[in-house]
Amino acid sequence: MNNKEINIPSLLKIGSGKTSKIGKYLVDRNFTEIALFFSDGIENIVADKLYPGLEKYGIKIVHKDNISDINIENAIHTAFKIPSTTKVLLGIGGGKALDYGKYCAHILKLPYITVPTSVSNDGFCSPNTSLLVAGKRKSVKSTIPYGVVADIDIIETAPKASLYSGIGDTISKITALWDWKQSFLKGYEYFNDFAGLMAYNSLDIIYLCDKLKPEDHEFKYRMVNSLVLSGIAMEIAGSSRPASGSEHLISHALDVVLTSHKQHGIQVGVATYLCSLLQDNRHKQVKDFLLKTGFFNFVAQEPINKQEFIQALKLAPTIKQNYYTVLSEKDSLDKALNFIETDDILKQIIK
Ligand SMILES: [Zn+2]
Repeated sequence: MNNKEINIPSLLKIGSGKTSKIGKYLVDRNFTEIALFFSDGIENIVADKLYPGLEKYGIKIVHKDNISDINIENAIHTAFKIPSTTKVLLGIGGGKALDYGKYCAHILKLPYITVPTSVSNDGFCSPNTSLLVAGKRKSVKSTIPYGVVADIDIIETAPKASLYSGIGDTISKITALWDWKQSFLKGYEYFNDFAGLMAYNSLDIIYLCDKLKPEDHEFKYRMVNSLVLSGIAMEIAGSSRPASGSEHLISHALDVVLTSHKQHGIQVGVATYLCSLLQDNRHKQVKDFLLKTGFFNFVAQEPINKQEFIQALKLAPTIKQNYYTVLSEKDSLDKALNFIETDDILKQIIK
C-alpha cells in the first residue's frame, strides 16, 4: 500500500434539473459564500435555473467572472482577488471556465465544484487542468474537484461538436490502457491495477451503442459517468496514464501543428482509431463505436488536413520524455502512414 492521499468527489449529482438544486447542495455543506466562474455566454443560459436556487438558500456570490482565456498568469492574479470569506469556487460552462476555476481553487486550497454545460472531455472531473503557460497549452497538476453537478437537460443543448468530442475522449481509454500496460510489462513504470480497472470499466458505454444514440438523454448520462470514472482513475494512478496514451500525444502534437484546431476529443478520437490499428488492440470495438455514434460522419464533414496530421504524427513521440507508447516503436510511423493511405475510414477523416 502507498500512503498517498486520494481525493474523490464528495458531491456527485448527474441527471435532470440539477442546476436549480445547486443552492441546496451548497447550503447543506455550509458553502454559503461562493465565487463563480462562467464560460463566455453561459451565464445567460443557466441564470434562470441557477440564481433563484442560490437566492432561496441565502447563498452569497462574493466574486463572479466570465472566462474567455486560460492564461495561467491571469488565473493566479484572479485567485488572489477572491475574497478570503469564500467557502467554495464553482466553474460553470465548457472547458475554459472549468480549467481556470480549478486552478484558482487549487492555489487557494479551497473546494471546487464543476458544473459542466457541455461534456467535450474528462476535464470536469480530473486532477489536471489545461492552461496556457508561456503561450503554450500545458496540462498542469491541480486538484480533483470536490464536486460535480452535471445537469443533463443543459448538456443536451450543447453544440454537436462537444458531444462528439466527449465521445472521442471516452473511447481513448482503450489505447491509453494498452500503452500503460505495455510500458509496465517492459519495466518502465508502475501499473496501478485499481486505476486500470476503473478506466477499463468506464468503457462499458461502448456496449450500449446498439441500443442508444448519442442524442439520447441516457447516452449522455452514461458518457458523463464514464468520464467521471476516468477522471478518478487518474487521481488514483497519480498520473494521466489511465486516460492518456499515444492517442493523446498525437492530439497534443495536433494542438501545435494544426492551423485549424478541432476540439480536444475530436482529435483524440481520430488518433484513437489510428492507434488501435497500430496496437492491433480492440480495433473492431473502437471502429464500431465510432461508426455507430456517427463520430466519423461528423469528422468527415471537415476532415483533418493530411499533411499537418503527418507532421503531428512525427512530433507526437517527442511530446513527453521517457514515456513509452506504441509510437515509441521504430516501425510505427511507417505503419501509420500506410494506414492513412489505405484505411477506408482514415481516408475520409484525414484528407
Ligand atoms: Zn483527453
